[in-house]
Amino acid sequence: MRARAVASLALCLSWAAPGCRPRTDAVFEPVRSLLDEVPAGTTPDVPVTCAVDDVIRPALGCVADVLLGQETKVRVQGGPVRRRFELPRSLGPGPVVVQPVVRRAGVDGWLLDDLEPWRALGARLVRRGARHVKLALPPVVSIGESLDLRVTASRLPPAKSLTGTRPVVLGPGTVLRVAVAVHPLGPAAGAPRVAFRLVAQTAPGRQELLREVLDPAHPENAGWHEHRVELGALTGRPVRFFFSTRVRPCPVGRRCRAFSAPLWGAPQILEPRPRAGRHNLLLISLDTLRADHVGAYGSRLPTTPVLDAMAAEGALFEQTIAPFPATLSSHASMLTGVYPRRHGVLGMFDRIPRDIPMLAEILAHHGYQSAAVTEDGMVLATAGFPRGFTYYREYKGAKRSTPSGRAVATFDAGLRWLETHRGEQFFLFLHTYQVHMPYAPPPAFDVFTSAPGTEANALPELVRCQQLYAGEVRYVDSAIGRLFERLTKLGEADRTLVVVTSDHGEEFGEHGGVQHAQTIYEEVLHVPLILRAPRLVPAGVRVPGPVSLVDLLPTVLDLLGIPPPPATDGRSLVPLLRDPRGTSPVRPVFFEVREPLLQMALDLSGDGGRACSSRLIAPLAPDTVIEQVGARTNAHKWIFHLQPVGLPEVYDLEHDPHEHHNIAGPDLLPTGERLVEEYQALATPAADRRPDHKAPPATIDEETTKKLRALGYVQ
Ligand SMILES: [Zn+2]
Repeated sequence: MRARAVASLALCLSWAAPGCRPRTDAVFEPVRSLLDEVPAGTTPDVPVTCAVDDVIRPALGCVADVLLGQETKVRVQGGPVRRRFELPRSLGPGPVVVQPVVRRAGVDGWLLDDLEPWRALGARLVRRGARHVKLALPPVVSIGESLDLRVTASRLPPAKSLTGTRPVVLGPGTVLRVAVAVHPLGPAAGAPRVAFRLVAQTAPGRQELLREVLDPAHPENAGWHEHRVELGALTGRPVRFFFSTRVRPCPVGRRCRAFSAPLWGAPQILEPRPRAGRHNLLLISLDTLRADHVGAYGSRLPTTPVLDAMAAEGALFEQTIAPFPATLSSHASMLTGVYPRRHGVLGMFDRIPRDIPMLAEILAHHGYQSAAVTEDGMVLATAGFPRGFTYYREYKGAKRSTPSGRAVATFDAGLRWLETHRGEQFFLFLHTYQVHMPYAPPPAFDVFTSAPGTEANALPELVRCQQLYAGEVRYVDSAIGRLFERLTKLGEADRTLVVVTSDHGEEFGEHGGVQHAQTIYEEVLHVPLILRAPRLVPAGVRVPGPVSLVDLLPTVLDLLGIPPPPATDGRSLVPLLRDPRGTSPVRPVFFEVREPLLQMALDLSGDGGRACSSRLIAPLAPDTVIEQVGARTNAHKWIFHLQPVGLPEVYDLEHDPHEHHNIAGPDLLPTGERLVEEYQALATPAADRRPDHKAPPATIDEETTKKLRALGYVQ
């Protein structure tokens, strides 16, 4: 179904349409979210974001799913599977839609994820005021086989809905952005059609801005449908916007198997601004990339020609230290500018406190359209990462339980968003697990026959796995090259601040282990940080002193001319770009780890030796947690073992960069103890947090838990 424009207002579905190309001398800034202009109490305001096809957006019309129950390995005996569920009062007094999904159970509960996606069974409408529901689910699998089942419920969205905003006065050249989508409750093929209509009301009368019909039965109608409406004809007058939807009713006498929730995604007003001097932001996080595998950081292999060229055109921080050697906590620091000790996000059920502003939120307040494409796993929507983004995609490929990266697909998804938003000031965050284990580069990139940094007597599997890791680095570098070429073709390369970094490194036996999240030695903390922006970042600068990922947020804000939030732990590194060796004293940086103890070994048994994964080599002890905290200055590094308790370590990084010779003694330890006490004092008492700072465990779904298990984060 296509949308149609009405009256004299232009509706742009594509930049290829006549009159829809952006003015080259102007950039469009989001100045107002129309969700904020809907009077309180008009619609249920929880949740305010919802996902359609893995893309999470703030939206009008979101309905909350409530989990009624889930079971694994239900053996089918013949005949339907009968279950009874209580309906919680939180669903309200109105009619409720109950949605069961099933799949064939895996051998060990999850191995079949790649083969057996969840399948929506017919939904059930439960009458107003009912306290429980009885279901008779078709068995789906053969007698003797097992299935997993999961049942959720939500309020029945109204058949007709009309929501109006407060009056808004529009500036010259204003445009409106909005996306529409249908969230099917039950099988998409059975969900009814929805008619969307957007109207602008002014004193002289009403004008229809948008009319579209989406039929969930048609695959091309799935997902979010973007629209951009020119509002120039309404300039200078108070305008109220009315969002109306009609869901085709269930025919009389028929029992409907699915229902439709209509959504208006991220309705925004954008205004043109002079483009001169403004920069976009592209932040690329290459999960698990250790600095010494990047050519510009001294790799002996030609792994990163694209990043090396980027460093030559921009600035490179030689000693960038991650604050935590694992994905969730380190990204939370990267995107808030505060240390883990302050944000407190250490595990998958933690949530970034609402009172700590995130980069996308700050940029949204300064006219940036923000989008993120991540590869699922630990940059969890449930931890709060979508805050500030109007488009947050948790990219899920066909193989949902396989965490190997998909850099090309992820970058392409980001580019598609960028093409749809041409002419708008943007922040695009891209996160890929491409170099994360398993290391399995495409054959054309499995080209390295040596491994940087490994000893001559290293175990063969250690050497081979590092070769494969280096191949993954070479592959992701080529994907970045392709991304940069497309950015140039879009005309955005010269006006975009590009930042490439990583959340932590990776160990290849340097201190007796593999992967990450078990120690705080340099191989898991030292990450690349490279910035490029013509006329904004001086070319060819190398900053030698230690800096932290918490410095990233204040630095990019400083470069973009935006004041940092008052309570960051990081500092702007912009003065160091002008004076790399700096006259000010080098500040200490901090790091810690708190993770379950995992003893892993490399495994080359898969894919004929062309893939390196890992396996447990010791029984799990669920209560055994590793807890270490440390600090470093330009010359020294301190590590304190809090759990299991152990002797402190001190290293002279200038003469012992690989941390082999512990020089802890009474002359150096007191300085480290004082620094670590300073770090630990950053902790914000839980009582100062809002009560919602912990996500309820139920919000981590089974799929996510399995993916995290495959990544090695949970057991
Ligand atoms: Zn990571």
